[in-house]
Parts: sequence; structure tokens; C-alpha cells
Amino acid sequence: MTITPGADYIGRFAPSPTGELHQGSLLTAVASWLDARQHHGQWLVRMEDLDPPREQPGAAEAILRALEAHGLEWDGEVMYQSEHHDAYQACLDELARRELIYPCNCNRQRLQSLTAYDGHCLQHPPASGPVALRVKTPASGEDELCFDDLLQGRQCQQLRSEVGDFVLRRKDGLYAYQLAVVVDDIAQGITHVLRGCDLLDSTPRQLWLFRLLQAPAPQFGHLPVVVNPEGQKLSKQTFAAPLQAVQASHNLWLALHRLQLQPPPELRGADCQTLLAWGLNHWHRGAVAALRSLPESSVP
Ligand code: GLU
Ligand code: ZN
Repeated sequence: MTITPGADYIGRFAPSPTGELHQGSLLTAVASWLDARQHHGQWLVRMEDLDPPREQPGAAEAILRALEAHGLEWDGEVMYQSEHHDAYQACLDELARRELIYPCNCNRQRLQSLTAYDGHCLQHPPASGPVALRVKTPASGEDELCFDDLLQGRQCQQLRSEVGDFVLRRKDGLYAYQLAVVVDDIAQGITHVLRGCDLLDSTPRQLWLFRLLQAPAPQFGHLPVVVNPEGQKLSKQTFAAPLQAVQASHNLWLALHRLQLQPPPELRGADCQTLLAWGLNHWHRGAVAALRSLPESSVP
């Protein structure tokens, strides 16, 4: 299938290859796949391999094999952010030309004491040494940035005290997630993003960049995250168990159940195609509206 820019619905799943898929990331993959397919949209996969020190060798390949094992087919070629550095640099160059970014050498200790960046290095430009690059958010005029989340309702952040001038290129020279995700969502013509609530705070920053770049922003929907008994989001850091391909049917049943779709017990053990087809008939965004977290253990 070829990608058609300007299509009505282009969704995506954008894992970071810091570890294998687990029940939490599967939930995001399943919900974004169901939403895209139900709207006769495309579903793209983008590997966010932007931060080599945090990546795990073989994880990107393992994630793709796990998606296949669960019947989650994607459209077109997988995009790898590691092959897209030119696009991120071109975007920074444009923002620099428009004087919308500036260097910052503040140390971690100073930054930790701030809720949002205070513009210190805009007033006192660093003379030398390694610097991060920050994007300017307005000092006056507009106060708030709001959007209507597809699942969580209206969301607003204060531009000065919550968003602040945020980092687009890190001090260690790596491109920041906020920059890359927006450049790629634009490049891939993404219209709908369903992703975990852990990224809700990032969305106003990304909307700010879409606006500076004069590009239409996708619609965002933030899904509940699966949490362990300690209330922590499942992740590599919290030792979430990788998905087993031999358990694909069970994993999908659990994901449908966690998405509050009430799959019938007789669907347990059905093949992935059957489970996903049932999901397509039953998925609706309202099922998870306003839900922020789902206990891992609440499964019958
Ligand atoms: N790569 C990010 C993650 O795995 C997701 C980015 C996004 O969906 O915008 O947390
Ligand atoms: Zn600074």
C-alpha cells in the first residue's frame, strides 16, 4: 500500500526500541490499530531510535516481530528516526534562521529547581562549551495552549509556567523527542495519534512546534496506561515482562478486555484475526474516555 498525503486518517504507532513490547505498549498498539482500521485509515509504524545509549540491541526487530505475531499489520515501510537526522537538522536550521531557538548551558541542578524553563540563557547567552537548543515560547500575549483530546476532553497548559522554552537538541548533541516526533508526524502526514497518557504533558509542546512550523497538527487521544500493583506504568524500568508470541491470542484478549470492550469468554483462545475482527466491531473511543490508568491485575 502506498501512503497518500492528505488522506482522511493516517495513524501511527511509534515505539522506542529501549526494550521489547509488553502488555502496556501492546494496549497502545491495539487501540491505535483498531481506531485507524475502523476509520478505514492507514496505520504506520515508526521506530523512535533517537537515543542510542538507551536502546537495547535487537529490540527494534523484536518489536516488529511481536506486532506481526499479534496480527497488527502496518502500511508501507517502517520509518527509522535514526535515518532522519537531516530532516531534524533542517528544521533546526529553519527555526534558527527565524530566531526562534537559542543555546542554553544550564546544568541539571539549576534546571531541576524550575517547573518550566525561565529563559535565563536568552538573557545571558553562554559564551562557550556544549549547549542545548531551546525553542522560544511567547513571553507575553497568549497565556494558554489548549486542545481537545479525543479521549480525555479539553486539556490546557500555561505557556510560560508549564510549557516554557523547551529543548529541541540536547546538550549531548542528540535531537530531542519533541523535535523528532513533530518533524516525523508532519513528514508522514499523521492525522490521528492515539498514545499513552504518560505523553499528555508533551502534547502542548508538540502543538507549539506544529504551529511554529505552520503545519496542521494531528488530533490527539491519550489512552490509559497499564500500571503494576505499585501503581507504576509498565516499562522496561519497572521490569515489565516481554510479550510471548506463543501467547498472542491471550495477550490480545487481555488488551481488548483492558480497553473495556468486554470480549466474551468464548473468544478466549481464538486466533488473532478473529480477536481483531471482533475488536473492530466493538471498539469505540468512549470505552476508555477519561481513563488514565488500568491496573495490570484487574483481569478475570
Ligand atoms: N516513542 C514514544 C514512546 O515509546 C512514543 C512517542 C509518541 O507516540 O508520540 O514512549
Ligand atoms: Zn539555560
